[in-house]
Amino acid sequence: LQAHLCGTARETVMTTDANQQIVIAELPTNKLGTEHFSIQTTPIPQPGAGEVLCKTLYLSLDAANRAWMQGATYRSAITAGTVMSGGVLAEVLVSNTPEFSPGDLVEAEGGWQQYFVANSKVQRKRIRRDPLSHLVSVLGVTGKTAYCGLLDIGQPQAGETVVVSAAAGATGNVVGQIAKLKGARVVGIAGGEEKCDWLQAELGFDATVDYRRDDFHRGLKEACPNGIDVYFDSVGGAVLEAVLFRMNMHGRVICCGAVSQYDTGSPEPGPRGVPGLIVTKRLSLRGFIVMDYYGGLAEQAEQDLNTWVQNGNIKVVEDIIEGLDAAPEALIGLLGGQNYGKRMIRVDPTAR
Ligand code: NAP
Repeated sequence: LQAHLCGTARETVMTTDANQQIVIAELPTNKLGTEHFSIQTTPIPQPGAGEVLCKTLYLSLDAANRAWMQGATYRSAITAGTVMSGGVLAEVLVSNTPEFSPGDLVEAEGGWQQYFVANSKVQRKRIRRDPLSHLVSVLGVTGKTAYCGLLDIGQPQAGETVVVSAAAGATGNVVGQIAKLKGARVVGIAGGEEKCDWLQAELGFDATVDYRRDDFHRGLKEACPNGIDVYFDSVGGAVLEAVLFRMNMHGRVICCGAVSQYDTGSPEPGPRGVPGLIVTKRLSLRGFIVMDYYGGLAEQAEQDLNTWVQNGNIKVVEDIIEGLDAAPEALIGLLGGQNYGKRMIRVDPTAR
């Protein structure tokens, strides 16, 4: 390894050949717990021909990490005994391909580990931003998901009512803020009074509804006196069902995810009212995966989101937790609704 590093400016970072990794020890059959993870230390891998060695700076924690444990989706399922999967922002340390140089920033599925080797084809180069964490939050996967899903599928018009669930989370808070910029009336659905108050006071949401309350249905009706034109659905289940009943004619439902169904061994069969409500209200429901937009609208998303952040039109909400070993509890907490905005792990303590 030292031989690989000779002659590069990165030699000093390699003071140890240890690579801390978090492994999924056992797949959960019900709620995810710390007992499903184990920690191990292995030698830092060496890149072969056409490969790069990367150092993880930030690890993105995503609700979808739990969905990947349920089986194959838009990607293969996570299997027990392997390094836990996860998206990372990383720095290239050693490159055996002309496409990358030491010091390049990349976005990759590096997994829950400090170092990883990857084929150059699975890396996406990123432009350095200040702070780097914005590349994981508002300019990362969840920010682009919010932009592409809302604007391409939802197409909110000024004066329309846009409802977003998991509204205080990484994707949802950006959806709400973009919808406000487009002149919509924005209603957030979130868990707990504190989050709901925060969405209105800090992010300018027009109204909020706490889905955990017994009177959620009445709260939703009161928060949306003119019905709902666009719904950005990140949770599925009972919340989707409630919203479908309040949708206006020709409403658009953006199917982004179903977090209410991820951390359980018995997902709900619902929602009820389908397809009847879709037919009678002439609704459009469309799913998407943000990668569909890479090389197209996602690039526009990064430009626009960056401009909005620089101009102060969008607030960046990040929840940064220090140290890889905190990742299991941090993901469990995210699924339980602990996070405000984008939760991530600072794996390299010097990353800023
Ligand atoms: P996040 O919103 O930052 O965190 C998840 C949030 O979900 C929690 O903070 C929690 O907030 C809420 N939640 C948990 N259990 C819930 C339940 N039973 N009912 C309602 N809300 C619940 O996570 P994220 O990574 O941004 O993901 C949000 C959604 O977007 C997920 O469905 C994810 O799969 C999806 N997503 C899709 C794409 C795509 O390409 N389609 C890309 C990225 C993310 P509360 O306190 O409000 O409960």
